[in-house]
Amino acid sequence: MDLAHLRNVGIFAHIDAGKTTLTERILLATGRERRAGRVDDGTTVMDWMPEERERGITITAAATRVPWGGCELNLIDTPGHVDFSFEVDRALRALDGAVLVLDAVAGVQAQTETVWRQLARAAVPAIVFVNKCDRPGSDALVAAATLATRLGVVPVPIAYPWHDADGALVGVFDLVARRGYTFAPDGAATEHAVPADASDEVDVLRAELIDALASRDEALLNIVGAGREPAPRELLDALRRGTLAREFVPVLVGAAQRGVGVQQVLDAVVSCLPSPLDVPLLRAHVENEMERPDGLHLANRGSLVLGDDGCVSVPPPRMDAPFVAAAFKVQSSRHGDLVFVRVLSGRVTPGMELYNPRVARREHVSEVLRLHADATVALESAAAGDIVALAGLAETGTGDTLVTLAEGALGFAGVLEPLRALEPVVSLFMEPADDAERARLGPALARLMREDPSFAAREDPGSGQWTAHGMGELHLEVTLERLTREFGVTPRVGRPHVALREVLVGAAEGSGVVERAFGGQGGHAEVTVHVRPQAGVPGAVSVAFGAAARVPEAHRSAVAAALAAEAASGPRFGLPFGGVHIEVVAGAGRADAQVEGAWVQAALAALRMALRAAAGPAAPLVEVHEPFADVIVETPEAFSSGVIGDLQARRAVLGEVESALGIRRIRARAPLVELFGYTTALRSLSQGRAVSTVVPIGYGPVPEGGLEARGLFGA
Ligand code: GDP
Repeated sequence: MDLAHLRNVGIFAHIDAGKTTLTERILLATGRERRAGRVDDGTTVMDWMPEERERGITITAAATRVPWGGCELNLIDTPGHVDFSFEVDRALRALDGAVLVLDAVAGVQAQTETVWRQLARAAVPAIVFVNKCDRPGSDALVAAATLATRLGVVPVPIAYPWHDADGALVGVFDLVARRGYTFAPDGAATEHAVPADASDEVDVLRAELIDALASRDEALLNIVGAGREPAPRELLDALRRGTLAREFVPVLVGAAQRGVGVQQVLDAVVSCLPSPLDVPLLRAHVENEMERPDGLHLANRGSLVLGDDGCVSVPPPRMDAPFVAAAFKVQSSRHGDLVFVRVLSGRVTPGMELYNPRVARREHVSEVLRLHADATVALESAAAGDIVALAGLAETGTGDTLVTLAEGALGFAGVLEPLRALEPVVSLFMEPADDAERARLGPALARLMREDPSFAAREDPGSGQWTAHGMGELHLEVTLERLTREFGVTPRVGRPHVALREVLVGAAEGSGVVERAFGGQGGHAEVTVHVRPQAGVPGAVSVAFGAAARVPEAHRSAVAAALAAEAASGPRFGLPFGGVHIEVVAGAGRADAQVEGAWVQAALAALRMALRAAAGPAAPLVEVHEPFADVIVETPEAFSSGVIGDLQARRAVLGEVESALGIRRIRARAPLVELFGYTTALRSLSQGRAVSTVVPIGYGPVPEGGLEARGLFGA
């Protein structure tokens, strides 16, 4: 198919704004188009199992294909809980454009803002649908204006609600075409001329639209400057250019529940949002030349041209380019586990052998499938730009890169950036009830980890106890619910706790001397190391050898490995440690006593001395850090002082507080441990009316005197 006619889009919303309703209505509207005589590109149509036929399943499918206006749309499932930022990143892997749904009374809300930041970071063009324009007190223009005040983006309304004399919603006005539309209960649209009583208002809004576009678009400015009335096509072209350049967001209006304005949203997806040809090529890290566990050589690595960022571009979305795909979701189905991929370049066919560099494993594609609203279709192939489900893959997980493998060489020797791998910050213990459950727990957890890279679970071989690690209390709660619902495993679980760590904040030095026999041979070594904080990846340890470190080349990797292992846990409490740069600044050994063991032991003694010095009371250079989170709360004014008082009791530092439309928005930053149970507490503080989002943002020091409260004594 022509890629210019493909749209990969995701719908995002604050909870309850109407994402599910809009999606249902889109399936209804486009299903009508499908029944009206379009042919599928597939070969076999398979029936869904009865439960799969339910709408609910289609809506939560990772990707559903619908036709509209001469284009094909892949609707990408987006998270209900935007607090799980990895879920948003996952969807961003697949989509090119976004539809943001707002509530016409509330405007931009807490989760809209959280998700918008991620869309903006990924430079995704978006259109906005102001939903629920049938609600009393709704004002589409005021809601649209919150895009400017709260997100700093320019809203450009291209539609306006059509209300009757009593204020009831009748339909929508299309400001580009200067036409009105009403909708039958099933969403079928009827076109009308703009009635006389709305004519002035529509003309004013249309003139504002033309102004807004002409001030940003030279082609349109020339038309308007020449005194000519722009044709709708010319307005749409300017709208598309500005949307793709992310200069503004076109704003549509309606009421999804009654099908009002839904077709206009679909039209705008087609006319304003990017095709796979409109987006920049993804960047990939190059696989290094190190000996790989699978013994593959990367024959074609030399042909790759590295950019300033040390990365390469993924090949362009063309059929004749090497195959590269990004896996963005693993979903169970009756075809087994389906891996949803965005094909970035080349094509994939059933029977193809793929290669997953992360797990260093070949993967066999048994089927290439497309999910429609009412059917699954087996395809003969899927090409660049498209989104399909692959059956048969055994180990590929969310965030993985898939490439081809021919004659021992990778078709493309790059790997996409893993999904923003924030470190898990909350953990809890799990204990299977009996051996039968123990046998099922491991595989179930492995399956969940494949799907969600921000979730991890590990078994302590000694105690048989499992620890689950995640991004927050809610994340673990939801994941454990799935364990019960989907895998029938209900282990006993402990209370969640936050992951603490020790952090080096200053430099120190230590030295060690070893003189003794190693396996009968006399060994002697003297080593001095210097430790200092290392910015960047938390938890990482790097080791370097200075010019004066006369550690023999042959023993350096053993010395470096021993130092890195020693620095993995902190000197004060044995907590995870890292962010440390260790430099071996001096080293000497008697020429007749060069034994690896002596070098390793001397280096370890030097490191321990350096860390003891750093951690000592004279120089408190090792701090204990805990995870922090940003909180946004939206509460009716009446409850705001209670909410603020409660946040302060949770050691939160308050940020900006603003009020609009009777709602107070409170921003704060607080230690994550203090936010356990926050959702419940907020509900009772506000009679269920306030909402919040909590986003982990990194680590900060545990305050003076706070260590005992976290069970850390002495040291
Ligand atoms: P989601 O949480 O964003 O998926 O929101 P839903 O689609 O589940 O909708 C949340 C609530 O808003 C439901 O009770 C819907 O019936 C209601 N709703 C959705 N669209 C409209 C609309 O156009 N008008 C009104 N008044 N209510 C709507």
